[in-house]
Amino acid sequence: MRNQGLGSWPARRARMTPDRVALSHRGDHRTYRDLRTRTDRLAHALRGLGVRRGDRVAYLGVNHPALVETFFAAGLLGAVFVPLNHRLTAPELSFVVEDAGAAIVLLGDGQDGSGLPGRHVPAGDYERLVASGAPGPIDEPVDRDDPCLIMYTSGTTGHPKGAVLTHANLTWNVVNLLVDVPFAHDEVTLISAPLFHIAALAQTLLPSVLKGGRAILEPSFDVARVFDLIETERVTVMFGVPSMFGFLARSPRWPSADLSSLRHLLCGGAPVPMPLIRSYEERGLTLLQGYGMTETAPGALFLAAEHAADKAGSAGVPCFFTDVRLVAPDGSDAAPGEPGEVYVRGPNVMPGYWRRPEETAKVLSPDGWFRSGDLGVADEDGYVRISDRIKDMIISGGENVYPAEVESALYGHAAVAECAVIGVPDERWGEVGKALVVLRPGATARPADLLAHLDGRLARYKIPKYLEFVAELPRNAAGKLLKAPLRARYGDPARTGGAD
Ligand code: ATP
Repeated sequence: MRNQGLGSWPARRARMTPDRVALSHRGDHRTYRDLRTRTDRLAHALRGLGVRRGDRVAYLGVNHPALVETFFAAGLLGAVFVPLNHRLTAPELSFVVEDAGAAIVLLGDGQDGSGLPGRHVPAGDYERLVASGAPGPIDEPVDRDDPCLIMYTSGTTGHPKGAVLTHANLTWNVVNLLVDVPFAHDEVTLISAPLFHIAALAQTLLPSVLKGGRAILEPSFDVARVFDLIETERVTVMFGVPSMFGFLARSPRWPSADLSSLRHLLCGGAPVPMPLIRSYEERGLTLLQGYGMTETAPGALFLAAEHAADKAGSAGVPCFFTDVRLVAPDGSDAAPGEPGEVYVRGPNVMPGYWRRPEETAKVLSPDGWFRSGDLGVADEDGYVRISDRIKDMIISGGENVYPAEVESALYGHAAVAECAVIGVPDERWGEVGKALVVLRPGATARPADLLAHLDGRLARYKIPKYLEFVAELPRNAAGKLLKAPLRARYGDPARTGGAD
């Protein structure tokens, strides 16, 4: 095959195991032969609509076979897949579609593309589109270093930016993962985390297809449904952010549920609390902690099962083909026990942000080291604990929220003179946002007015849970806002100022 990229994976798998079920969705099962045939047809159809090598093909929607087929069909054409987060508001989505320069947006069930720029395919037309494509293979020459995916992450500048991941980046991530986790050919992988985030795509869907396993696609994370599926489908693999595993462990179903089929539980995307690790241990289950980010496709550190108990709380050691440095403020390597910024280098690290050379240069050095903006501390054996975050970011239920973006939306309200958004601990979501606002003299707005102003401008998960009026915000001599004293003073969620 001339296609060396991920678009060729359904065909490669169908050569080996055509009759195994690749995808299950709400009682509908598709074999690898089906997956191959349908992605071939869809690729022909997209080509008929003018999609060419290097063009961007976006998909907006929850987990669904159409999302997976679009991803592989784009790869067959050498086009670049852009998964869109359906939780974003219409203006946020328009920015992303425009920035990516998407040639076409495929809309999943229930998604309204009316405000979006460019050409759309509504969900109701999807099956017709697939059927309209010619059968048979498309063998575009695709190189492993060609871009495969652009995944948008927000940023400290307030505007989302697209991390470009190549076919090689994603392939090496799967290789790294398979070194640590012995995925078998008969795994049943439950994918209830959204595929528009890197972990679900790269840590569950891709290994499942590579090994010829069965992936169950769920449109959302629903605790009762997850327990039902584990029991009836005998699920063996799951990925979740810590809050998802927390919801399961706090459910009344937890003590009696039959979890005997589970083999590999991958957990990451936010700090994994020790009590959570222990609740799973008590049920004889190991939460395999990984650390990474979109820009590293995502795996950088992994704690293998054999050290899950004696190194509990750490995110492990660098993945096999990836290197990690902890860099002290003076640029030297931090000594064991000392914090340092986590730098990552390896074949899974992105080549850069989409059309953002300056943003890329800030995080990626010419010798290939990517600066994560996280702090880590290594022990004497090299096991790294993620200790803090340098970048100003809140992780709420696995979704990243950038205070800069929320603050800039708050400044759009006439009553706001100054504002700052910090993260405060939350039992369910890990962290939630809290806004501290100084009102303009004479302004009479209430907290609810400011929150209503954010509604529709920002995705709901970005809207602060708490909002409190304050007399002033601490700044240093140069006028820079100081968030550390704000966190110390206002970081206790039990204080007043609740907005819900
Ligand atoms: P996903 O969004 O699919 O869950 P992800 O969280 O790996 O993937 P990003 O959304 O880019 O990727 O978020 C990356 C950030 O999440 C990291 O920079 C870090 O701050 C945080 N993070 C990820 N894993 C861990 C972990 N095990 N411990 C602490 N923080 C983590």
